[in-house]
Amino acid sequence: MCPQIRLKTPLKERPGNGRALRARVRRISGVLEEVLGVPVQSGKPPPSMDMLIATVLSQNTNDRNSHRAYVALRQRHPTWHSVAEAPVRSLAATIRSGGMANQKAARIKGILRTIYSVYGRYDLSALQKRSNEEIIDELTRMKGVGTKTAACVLVFALGRDVFPVDTHVYRLCERLGLTLNSRSPDDTFEQMKPLIPAGKGYSFHTNLIRFGRKVCHARRPACGLCPLYDDCVYDGKERGTARSLKTSKADHSFMLLDEISP
Ligand code: SF4
Repeated sequence: MCPQIRLKTPLKERPGNGRALRARVRRISGVLEEVLGVPVQSGKPPPSMDMLIATVLSQNTNDRNSHRAYVALRQRHPTWHSVAEAPVRSLAATIRSGGMANQKAARIKGILRTIYSVYGRYDLSALQKRSNEEIIDELTRMKGVGTKTAACVLVFALGRDVFPVDTHVYRLCERLGLTLNSRSPDDTFEQMKPLIPAGKGYSFHTNLIRFGRKVCHARRPACGLCPLYDDCVYDGKERGTARSLKTSKADHSFMLLDEISP
């Protein structure tokens, strides 16, 4: 493996702005689709309620553990009313595999309480008529629901053209020089909003997650295989000639939020 080197001059500004930056995002999204495939959402989108709770369960853990927690929750409590009525301790035991179980159990109960008090039932289908901004605003008022969680509900349950930014996407946008001095995933979410090509929110988000898993790992990224080597402004990238990752028509690696069903 090539030794890691630091670039002598750290990049202070992202390359290009406005139109040029939008064109760059489009090209990068296209390269990822070519290499990793065009992601397709499998099956019917889940209800927003299910997606919201699944995304809360996914916080600070990996997809497999949080999926286990979600499945256990739905098996033990087939209705949201039953979840809302369950004692925190018992709920925490059910979702233990998802980590931070006590905190998540308390938050889930709080979220359900709020939803019931606002809508009179455990159902978020009324959101369908609202704008993206209104939905984000409404959901993020609940404790434990951040912008990323709300954006996941928008894209994975409501089919909106939104680009959710978690810590992985945040890291990748920064390495690819798409954001400027971003301090958080929420900041990146705002900066990226005007740059995402129409209709590409889901694809670009999904492929960046895949790209982060396969190539641009948080530690020891596989720069020698990187199809975006020339776009990268990360000062820790490895020196050497990048070889392209073998093109694949589709990637079927497990993606949690594509696997949520009521
Ligand atoms: S060159 Fe390396 S650090 Fe840069 S995007 Fe590619 S894999 Fe990530």
